Amino acid sequence: AARLTDADTQPGDVRDRALRPLSFTDFRGQQKAITNLKVYVEAARRRGEPLDHLLLSGPPGLGKTTLSQIVARELGVNFRSTSGPIISKAGDLAALLTNLEPNDVLFIDEIHRLNPVVEEVLYPAMEDYELDLIIGEGPAARSIKIDLSPFTLIGATTRAGLLATPLRDRFGIPVRLEFYSKEDLTEIVVRAAGKLGLNMTPDGAAEIAGRARGTPRVAGRLLRRVRDLTEHDGVTVVDAVAANVALNRLGVDHLGLDSQDMRYLRTLCDMFGGGPVGVDTMGAALAEARDALEDVVEPYLIQQGFLMRTPRGRVATPRAYEHIGLPAPMVVSN
Ligand code: ADP
Repeated sequence: AARLTDADTQPGDVRDRALRPLSFTDFRGQQKAITNLKVYVEAARRRGEPLDHLLLSGPPGLGKTTLSQIVARELGVNFRSTSGPIISKAGDLAALLTNLEPNDVLFIDEIHRLNPVVEEVLYPAMEDYELDLIIGEGPAARSIKIDLSPFTLIGATTRAGLLATPLRDRFGIPVRLEFYSKEDLTEIVVRAAGKLGLNMTPDGAAEIAGRARGTPRVAGRLLRRVRDLTEHDGVTVVDAVAANVALNRLGVDHLGLDSQDMRYLRTLCDMFGGGPVGVDTMGAALAEARDALEDVVEPYLIQQGFLMRTPRGRVATPRAYEHIGLPAPMVVSN
């Protein structure tokens, strides 16, 4: 079954679109990232130039796509969207690039998963707005150059570390998104509840925000489920108590950990003595893909101080033992 607290996209999430902020003004949080970005966008718009290429990195569900759409809208240009694994051939990317109008935004999600052959096409395109293509094969092969309209590439990645250096270096504006504070998430939930026509108190919104793993996508999903449950129970005002009852029924604890996180922590503490243990071993023990652990499960456990990534592997903290109700092993030092 799909996890409620998984920050990756799920089918039901398409309904979120109605809740998406459409301008910088509507976008809550990420103050640090946005303050400068706004200035750059405004400057590019005023000069009628494309914005420098922008790399947005950070865990899933924090608003990379949303922010890219806002940037395009504020620039007053078209937003074209694709994703790294979808572009299989150099020609696919060439087709996208040649169809752009001046100063358009091309958004490439999961840019760390671009095929290296496709990546090569991207370099001259990003640098000189030029395509270098090889037509034909063998002795008949020749290279042709095609001029492109100036454009802005916005790359989104959960793993900036996996990007090839030449690609990373071609982004003039690198922006890292962080998990949201509870206050920012509360505001996001209040606003979303309003749009859904749900009568929710700020306390009720704060309950959802506190369990949303610092992630707006998770907050939106929890909000929809809480709405279903409270509606079903005939609750007219969703206050902290009502929200709490619903969230407990959803199996999400007061820190936003669900059964899968608990299983992770128990496996690490119980089966592997708290580590260090390699991520592949954890993946095998939990029957989970390594990517899912590294992108979705672990970042939040690390941020909450349950887990450390060390050169020798994953290590549980005393707080992890406490949370799963086990005594922490004694650290003997001399
Ligand atoms: P990412 O591309 O980083 O995975 P998205 O941009 O798809 O994340 O955002 C996930 C969901 O969270 C979207 O449906 C959007 O409505 C919501 N969201 C993201 N950031 C914000 C924000 N700052 N304020 C309100 N809602 C947001």
